[in-house]
Amino acid sequence: MTSTELRASLERTIENIADFPKPGIQFKDITPIFLDPKLYEAVIDDLASFSKGKIDAVCGIESRGYLFGIAIAVKLEVPFILIRKKGKLPPPFVAQSYDLEYGSSEIEMREGQLKPGMRVLVHDDLLATGGTTEAAGKLVEKQGAKVAQFSFLIKLRGLGSETKLDLFGAEQHSILEYD
Ligand code: AMP
Repeated sequence: MTSTELRASLERTIENIADFPKPGIQFKDITPIFLDPKLYEAVIDDLASFSKGKIDAVCGIESRGYLFGIAIAVKLEVPFILIRKKGKLPPPFVAQSYDLEYGSSEIEMREGQLKPGMRVLVHDDLLATGGTTEAAGKLVEKQGAKVAQFSFLIKLRGLGSETKLDLFGAEQHSILEYD
């Protein structure tokens, strides 16, 4: 499948649900991708070829970042490390807080799984404001590793993610972009 065919196929497959989970949000439902194993495989091929030879580990963001992140890591034969939401991991773990629309939250990773100097791909299914991904990048760098790349299936433009992610100086890739 060419990248043009992949984009067209994903555009047909991903469902847009208006006003979910609240008014004004255009929710992108990626679950129909898993009904089509060939399409899923083409997504993994695309994301893995972006990262091939450039990373030593994949960090996936809970929970939809796991669905593709693990497959990328297996294909590239590098470790996969889970970034979890607060309160799910046993100690020892490292944490990073970040601001939400109202209040703040934290993400966590088991201590010692990421080694200093590792070149890391931070992966999630979708980039919106970039708040979660920025926190994931800070969590990686706190441990002496380097964010080498960010990848997403979908990037929503105009929500301010560029100002947050460009500071890492990492390569970025998304298969689809929406305004
Ligand atoms: P953000 O921190 O704003 O970049 O939000 C990214 C996280 O929220 C990702 O893990 C996405 O899965 C989820 N998310 C944000 N906006 C949407 C949307 N419009 N459709 C589906 N998921 C979304």
